[in-house]
Order: sequence, then C-alpha cells, then structure tokens
Amino acid sequence: MRLRIAPSPTGILHLGNLYSAITNVLFSYKYDSKLILRIEDTDTQRNKTNAIEDIYRDLDKIKINIDESSKNPGLYGPYKQSERIHVYKFYIKKLLKMGGCFFCKCSFKRVNILKKINLLLGDPPTYDGKCLNRNYLTGKIRLKVPRAGICVGDYKINWSNVDMQVLWINSKPTYHFANVIDDQLMKISHVLRGRDWLTSNPKHILINLFLGFNVPKYYHIPLICNKTESKLSKRLDNMGIDSFLSLGIISETILRYLISLVVGVDTPNISEASSNFNIKNLKQQNIHINGKKLLLINKICLYEVVQDVNNIIKNLIGKGCFDDVMALCVKKSLILHDIYKLLCFVFWDYKSIKMVFMSNIEYLLLDLLLIEYKKLIIWSKLNLQNIHKKLTNYLGLNLRTFCTILTPIIGSRHSISLYDVYLIIGQKVIITRVSLILEKLYHKTNQNI
Ligand SMILES: [Zn+2]
Repeated sequence: MRLRIAPSPTGILHLGNLYSAITNVLFSYKYDSKLILRIEDTDTQRNKTNAIEDIYRDLDKIKINIDESSKNPGLYGPYKQSERIHVYKFYIKKLLKMGGCFFCKCSFKRVNILKKINLLLGDPPTYDGKCLNRNYLTGKIRLKVPRAGICVGDYKINWSNVDMQVLWINSKPTYHFANVIDDQLMKISHVLRGRDWLTSNPKHILINLFLGFNVPKYYHIPLICNKTESKLSKRLDNMGIDSFLSLGIISETILRYLISLVVGVDTPNISEASSNFNIKNLKQQNIHINGKKLLLINKICLYEVVQDVNNIIKNLIGKGCFDDVMALCVKKSLILHDIYKLLCFVFWDYKSIKMVFMSNIEYLLLDLLLIEYKKLIIWSKLNLQNIHKKLTNYLGLNLRTFCTILTPIIGSRHSISLYDVYLIIGQKVIITRVSLILEKLYHKTNQNI
C-alpha cells in the first residue's frame, strides 16, 4: 500500500495539516505502507519563498518519516507538481480524446454570476454546461459531469449538483486534475484527506474512471475546528509549529497530542499508537482543540525534554544537586518557558542584569552582604537567614525591599526560592555575583556623577 501527504507551499503547515499527516503516518505504520511527500506547487501566485524547506523542516520537527520525496526519490518522481507539467499535458489530451472533458470559453464573470444565482435559489453553485456541445478547440477545459443519476463513491448526491470543474487553465492543470493524475502515477492506493475534500470526491472518481485508472480508496478524515477553548487564548487550529514553540509548547507535545486525537490514546510512540489505529474509528465530527489537554501533555513531555539539556545544566550547577533542581523546576512548570524562567539563576549573566536599585543604602547592603558571605564558614540556610535578618534590621529595610535588592543575584524574581538558589549554586558563585553587581553599580553611579 502507498499513501501520500500533499501540502502546498502556500504557507505554514498548521495543526489541521499536521493532523492529516499523522493520520497518514499511523495508517502507513499499521499496514507497513510507503508514505510519499508530494509538493503541490502549481498555484505559483500563492507559493511562498522557503515554504517547501519549511514543510520538510516542520515534518522533521514532529518526527514524521517520509519514505519518498524530492529529497529521497523513489521510482515515481518528480515529487513536485511544477516539475510534472509534461505529464499533466499528456493526460489532459488523453482525457479530451476519451470525451471526459470539453473546452469552455465562458468568462469568469459569467460563471460567477451563474453561481451566485444558483446560491440565491438555494442550489449548489454549478456551471450550466453552456459550452458542453460547442466543440470548441481552445479555452479552459472542464470536466464533463453527467447530468443525470447519482454519484459513484461515498458521497451520494445527484450528478446534476456536481460542478463541471475546471481542470486546465492558462496552460496548467488545476489542483483537481493534477492531484488525480499524481495519485495514479505514484501508485497511491489509499488517500486519507480532510473532509473538506468530500464534495470534490465524485469529480476525482470520475476523472479516474474516464482515464481507465484504478480508483484509490478515499477516506475523508475530520477537520480541526476553529473554535478553541484554550487558556492559551490563541486560535490553535491556525497555528504552525513555530507559533506553538513560541508559546512554550514543545514539538514532542504536538506529535503526542495529534496522536491522541487520532487514536484516542496518549502515547509518544508512533509504532505503539499505530497498533491502536483503526480508520473506521476516526471521529466523524470536526475536532475541537482542547488547550487544557495540550498543556497537560506538554507538562509530561517537558520531563523528557529536560533530559536532553541535562549535561549543559549539570556542568553549570554541579552533578550533585542536578536532579533536585530539575525536579523543583519541572514541578512548577506548565510550559517550556516556565523552566527557562526558573532556571534563569543557572544561566546568570551579569551583563543582562537590570539594576533596579541605585540608592546608597542598597549599595551598602550589598557591600555588607559581600563581607558577611566571605566570612561565612558554613554555607547553610540557617546561617544565611541570620545574616540577612541582622542586616535588614541594621539598615531598617523591609523584606520586600530586601528581596528586590537580592533579585539580581539570583537572576530573576521568577526563579525558584532564594535559599534554594543560594545553596545550589554555592558560596563561591554567590560571592562572585555580588562582586560583579557591585562593580557594575559602582561604574553606573560614577557615570552619573
Ligand atoms: Zn462555457
């Protein structure tokens, strides 16, 4: 069996495209099929620069393995429609010869008015077949749709309600034609695509039948719906991977969430998920994104991602307390950004420290702290608390001001608790940081004189 995903390079792959891709991946895993990536780039006006590279990158990010593509060609390339125009030319001529299509000279304006009238009358917007028997030899080419009977395939409507689709215009195929030809020549056996293609299905089957092709098995899968109930307060359905990443939702979560939407089971493992996959169990209704569930899955995935950055952080805070630190941070995190924020005390950079205090008393506090920290023999929470208490009383500072003055030492007020940070990074590092802050403060003060 062979399946395909066929995105257009007209923008980002949004969640709906990725859902469709994952459904194809799970099917192909389950039935040991080949998965093909075809780029449908015939709409040159809407194509975006770099979009093809972005498609590869995004699929790679959520670990979708493609068996055949332009980058890894098999026997049935090229895999970009813009490189296959000669193929479509051959088949449109064949279709004309078989009597499956006809030339139409009607203007867009005429057809648009026709379709608007149809809609006003409550009918499907269809072309009226004016040029059907005119035997024109030029113009755009339309599919010859029967005017009587009921459609073949799963979508049972009257043929009279199916539009005589334009298949060829301005020396190029339209999506409907190129798509059918490609599926045939690339030996695609199963097409799993969004339900928005259901109404076009009779046309696609008809083209196949006119050309004497084996009709692939078509499945129409649910769509991701616009309505999003989410704490993230974004339209998640319309977002690409980069937007999710910028919200702190990691790529592992996107994969895992999409898998859960398709098979109803929460697992990060495609192979395991594929054993639960059954095309007949796919929902019929549109799917709403559950932002709450997405965040919960993200929380689970963060634990795993944390392992990847282990080594960097281990070097910065020492191996001994690494596990405790990570447990502390992950416990307090919902999205990836939370971990970054909490870990800011590790990636401390005095150049980026904002100096929120400028008065002499604050300068004096840091100066006295430095002396006390240097003198301290046992670097314990209790001893540190005693020093802090002594100095705040001595200088008449309240706790809030005291904490504000100490914030630059730990990096950010979003960090884990002050004493946790002090004990994790240790006496030597704290002394260095206070010295650097004082130095910076000293230079800043002098500049202002
Ligand atoms: Zn016409």
